Amino acid sequence: MKNLLFIFSIASCAFSVISCKSNQLDADTKSEYIANTVHSCEQGNVRITTDFPSGRMGECKLIALNEYEITLIPEGTPINSSPWYAFKVAAEERTSIKINMLVQGDKHRYPPKVSANGKTWKLQPYKMAGEELVVHIEASNESTYIAGQEIIDNQYYIDWAQDLSKKYDVTHTILGQSTQGKPIYKIESKQQDNNEWLVIFGRQHPPEVTGALALFPFTETLLSTTELSKKYKDRFNILIIPNINPDGIELGNWRFNANNIDLNRDWQNFSQVETQQIDQYLEQLVDQGQKIKFAIDFHSTRHDVFYTMPVDYGVEAPYFVIHWLKSLDELMPNFDVVMEPGNTPNNGVSKQYFADKFGIHAITYEMGDNTDRYKIIDIANKAANTLMESMLSSTNHNIE
Ligand SMILES: [Zn+2]
Repeated sequence: MKNLLFIFSIASCAFSVISCKSNQLDADTKSEYIANTVHSCEQGNVRITTDFPSGRMGECKLIALNEYEITLIPEGTPINSSPWYAFKVAAEERTSIKINMLVQGDKHRYPPKVSANGKTWKLQPYKMAGEELVVHIEASNESTYIAGQEIIDNQYYIDWAQDLSKKYDVTHTILGQSTQGKPIYKIESKQQDNNEWLVIFGRQHPPEVTGALALFPFTETLLSTTELSKKYKDRFNILIIPNINPDGIELGNWRFNANNIDLNRDWQNFSQVETQQIDQYLEQLVDQGQKIKFAIDFHSTRHDVFYTMPVDYGVEAPYFVIHWLKSLDELMPNFDVVMEPGNTPNNGVSKQYFADKFGIHAITYEMGDNTDRYKIIDIANKAANTLMESMLSSTNHNIE
């Protein structure tokens, strides 16, 4: 009898989606979220939710018994092809469910990962049926997270930075506020007599998690207590802004900040508070007689690549980046260092901003979406070590 009632209640929902909770926003919690974010899709004893930081699924509909259709919907246009998703499945009684995921106006990019605790992840088997990505999940009373990439939310950055400040001589302070008033943190390693700075940016684009997975070990290698790191920190200060877009991360955005602006196209117009405050902070350093020497901005794309400024662009130490990345290439016979020099005036990317404003090299450090996670760490450790060697081997004020 119970089962019959259960089937009946599902059927009534399937035939009448309007009366089903799946397409409705919770009025009391929606202020934190944008209009196209659905919080839950539940029927019978199964519940699919996005009520956690970075959670997002777009539309969710029950289309048959224990079968759901989720449509991923971008936060704005132009659509960037990074269809993020992150949701949680739970059921009072063990239930096999099928989820068909579609992308509105685009194609899938991220193979699904699953996690029981939101911390350790593994790849989830899936099938493509045309444009639909199909997964089968055993829902139980222990939630299963399903996401496009590992979830690295705002709290993760805070925990990581607090851990760093316990281990190393760094400060962890607030640089400014995001559009929605979330703190934008900076981590600094500095010594009184140093006046040369390395600047590290991260997570302008929320789904670009492999960039974050590179930034963490890269930074830890720089800050570590090896002889090389000590020597490096004796000469160079380091400014790390690991999470520039906390609103976009909270919302599970595909690309933009809370105003639907691509922050990595805003380093010329400075129309957003996130870029404005960071620009002002760097300006203030320079006004105090400090010198920005080099900058790295961590991102992800479909393959591993380092976007650089051309040697003839007119920045100081024109061959510095080539020397550094060649030494990384020599150190890693199994990793092909791909450099793509490019000059893109007027498009507002950070590397161009560093070149134009401070007359220095900067790179966009891109890790592939599907690059092996251990390899990302290995590349980052070696890239940090070779960078320190390259910067230290230069004469004062003139890295070559
Ligand atoms: Zn990016």
